Amino acid sequence: MSKYVYFFGGGKADGKASDKNLLGGKGANLAEMVNLGIPVPPGFTLSTEVCTAYFAAGGKFPEGLEAQVDEALARVEKLLGKKFGDPSNPLLFSVRSGARASMPGMMDTVLNLGLNDEIAAGLAKKTGNPRFVWDAYRRFITMYSDIVLGVKKEHFEEDLEAVRREVAKARGIDITKHNKEELKTVLPDSELGAEDFKKLVGVFKGIVQKHTGKPFPTDPKQQLWGAIGAVFGSWNNDRAKAYRKMYDIPESWGTACNVQSMVFGNLGDTSATGVAFTRDPSTGENVFYGEWLPNAQGEDVVAGIRTPFNVTKEAAAKSNPGTSLEEKMPKAFAVLRDIYQKLEKHYRDMMDIEFTIEDGTLYMLQCRVGKRTAAAAVRMAVEMAKEGLITKEEAVMRVDPASLDQLLHPTLDPKAPKKFLAKGLPASPGAAVGIVAFSAQDAEKLASQGKKVILVRIETSPEDIKGMEAAQGILTARGGMTSHAAVVARGMGKCCVAGCSALNIDYQAQSIVVTVYDDSGKKVVEQATVKAGEFISLDGNTGKVYLGAIPTVDAQLGGNFGQLMQWADEFRVLKVRTNADTPHDAAKAREFGAEGIGLCRTEHMFFGKDRIAAVREMILSSTVEQRKKALDKLLPYQREDFIGIFKAMDGLPVTIRTLDPPLHEFLPTLREHIEALAKELGVTVEELERKNRELHEANPMLGHRGVRLAISWQEIAVMQFRAILEAAVEVDKQGVKAKPEVMIPFAVTKRELDIMKSVFDKVAQEVFEKAGRKVDVLYGTMVELPRAALMANELAKTAEFFSFGTNDLTQTTCGLSRDDAGKFLPDYVAQGIFPKDPFQSLDTEGVGQLVEMACTKGRATRPDIKLGICGEHGGDPASIHFCHKVGLAYVSCSPFRVPIARLAAAQAAIAAKGQMKVASTA
Ligand code: PEP
Ligand code: MG
Repeated sequence: MSKYVYFFGGGKADGKASDKNLLGGKGANLAEMVNLGIPVPPGFTLSTEVCTAYFAAGGKFPEGLEAQVDEALARVEKLLGKKFGDPSNPLLFSVRSGARASMPGMMDTVLNLGLNDEIAAGLAKKTGNPRFVWDAYRRFITMYSDIVLGVKKEHFEEDLEAVRREVAKARGIDITKHNKEELKTVLPDSELGAEDFKKLVGVFKGIVQKHTGKPFPTDPKQQLWGAIGAVFGSWNNDRAKAYRKMYDIPESWGTACNVQSMVFGNLGDTSATGVAFTRDPSTGENVFYGEWLPNAQGEDVVAGIRTPFNVTKEAAAKSNPGTSLEEKMPKAFAVLRDIYQKLEKHYRDMMDIEFTIEDGTLYMLQCRVGKRTAAAAVRMAVEMAKEGLITKEEAVMRVDPASLDQLLHPTLDPKAPKKFLAKGLPASPGAAVGIVAFSAQDAEKLASQGKKVILVRIETSPEDIKGMEAAQGILTARGGMTSHAAVVARGMGKCCVAGCSALNIDYQAQSIVVTVYDDSGKKVVEQATVKAGEFISLDGNTGKVYLGAIPTVDAQLGGNFGQLMQWADEFRVLKVRTNADTPHDAAKAREFGAEGIGLCRTEHMFFGKDRIAAVREMILSSTVEQRKKALDKLLPYQREDFIGIFKAMDGLPVTIRTLDPPLHEFLPTLREHIEALAKELGVTVEELERKNRELHEANPMLGHRGVRLAISWQEIAVMQFRAILEAAVEVDKQGVKAKPEVMIPFAVTKRELDIMKSVFDKVAQEVFEKAGRKVDVLYGTMVELPRAALMANELAKTAEFFSFGTNDLTQTTCGLSRDDAGKFLPDYVAQGIFPKDPFQSLDTEGVGQLVEMACTKGRATRPDIKLGICGEHGGDPASIHFCHKVGLAYVSCSPFRVPIARLAAAQAAIAAKGQMKVASTA
């Protein structure tokens, strides 16, 4: 029979860290910690196979599971000397989800399972702590009812408030002034006593009876199976589904379910709970970073209900001296320190750990490789390699290339004037500027209208995930660095300021009221009000919040980032170029490490304010002479552009593509623009409209464009060739090394390339003769149509290089319009028809075949043919792996993607050599 249940405890575990697929991340790591001799409350894991079998059978548990669970239960009981369901010496369990990939807060958990009235009374007697027991019991009823029985938390909250009001009244506290939220602060749970909780238990059970028509289940076994089913079921709740979609987690994985004996952090002042990271997850600094709460249950830290204290003395000294775990519970802290050091050494990575201290004894409840910001990922990878903990290759593999985006984008301009509003915790770095929205729905709506939004919440919950995704940044009034908002924002690479307690957020009034203090924090400067729709700016590096929209500045590329990039460059085989049309973009890309230009789209230069008139004049010419005259006006502009680009790319290759789009794109379409242009050019409106009609094509993307234009109107190509060559000899005179590569777009026959080659050669001869000097120029073509790929052996007879235009190649191979397919492609991806949008990530299966074939055929004709890619896919990590595999010489992408491509190219090379897998830092 299949093994479904994996026991862990007492120094022995059935599983290990590498069993992640079977036991989920949490289960596998609990087993690993037990194997390492780390104190973990014993329990057992129901494998992900149970979950998939459960769903396959329409919500029925597989046969044989019950016996295995009973056996594991008995082992836990024996180990602890307690019994599940025994009022005189009861054992309680937590039941938690745990998938292969961590999905923080997305699935369900039930704590304190195994209580009923009799057991609670027994436990109260045994522990001598009835307040704790009845508190645990009422928490259990709320959680269990919410998750298993479908009676939502809100139903209980009203009664909790009523009890709170009664207690307040009895204690003579004037409650008329306070609303529900305020009452929680005036009379927190810690102020309620055993009798209050006992009363709540009674009321809560009544609520369950009312909503479900049945009493709350009293049989612990029945409770256990209910919780296991609900945990598996939570794999398919809306939050989990949305999260899976965002992080490409397959539905078929399922979750494991961990049943673990409870330890209590809320037994009194010698108990506590906390969450920590072995290094700072926000900056990557090699300091132990953690938060803890005395006398609290695990969820309290993460839920952001109370703002926690720092674990280390050093961290606490900065904000709240004397409150650290290190000072308050030095013995437990020493144990924790040994454990975290052991874990980091063993896993060779930064770990995220959860611990509970029950009456002075520390237990580990969880460990996993910690999520981190991109900045932290880079710093840790580089420092760990320097410490000798990992190799340079591993360091390169540790950073998710796409996440580098976070580092390349701007931060708030330090010199800009700022109006300080408040300070919270720097929960996720970067900068965010946007208008205030108070709900996830509002944030989503405004973002869909193209507005930049900051989501402002008292605290966030997993329901807010979509709004968080849509927002530029997140600001919360409550919660610490490990609160939901902070963890999720870091995962998304979004700026977040959390626990900004100065904010008085009023959802009803749609406003924030803040008492603004001066720098000393003592003197009140003013009372500020920020309304929905007003701009604020967040600094995720300092935690400061400012009024208004503050300008941002570019990122720094040195330090650890520079080091990691240098290592990446040592390993990669692919060169990385950029797609750039201006000297400014070219220079920017070079800063990012571009090794040349892979695509300069010359038509972009035609749109400049001072050029478009000449372009239009050229289009409207009726004779060759007229056209040449107009082109003569354009020539100096183009030459200057190329001079600028050659200078920016001194010594590096620059691929310049001749005019590509159909000419109608340069003419106005709006009546008022047509009238203005007619006046400017001294032609009639009718004449202009006639020209527009003449140029109109039913299918312009397959029309008179690319090389076809050059064939019809050679003088356009002549002007462009001349501009390129004259610019090259000009900079050559100045001692700048220009390496132009002239590229013909949209060709499908050798003949097209030959005709243009003879035109090119003629212009080159003229220019070189006149200048008295020569510059080497390569002549090549784009491969962006299926026929070009099929005929690559022929094209290569003339073309010295190919550059794959995978945008058009995808469009024409799949028959998908680049401009319109966005309407239905997301649905195609959602239904699994395409694994990803084929315009973003190359369809390696289909379109990739044409690329591979063209490489083979091109090389057969011309063994040293230079091969590259300049479609959007050149900056996509998965596509870059493919480019490495087929042996392209380079990829070319937009300037901001250059570092991403460098890292992805290195990872492709390392992965191909050693089968090492890329670690995702998200
Ligand atoms: C392509 O088609 O992939 C390409 C790079 O050209 P463009 O996007 O300009 O059509
Ligand atoms: Mg193209």
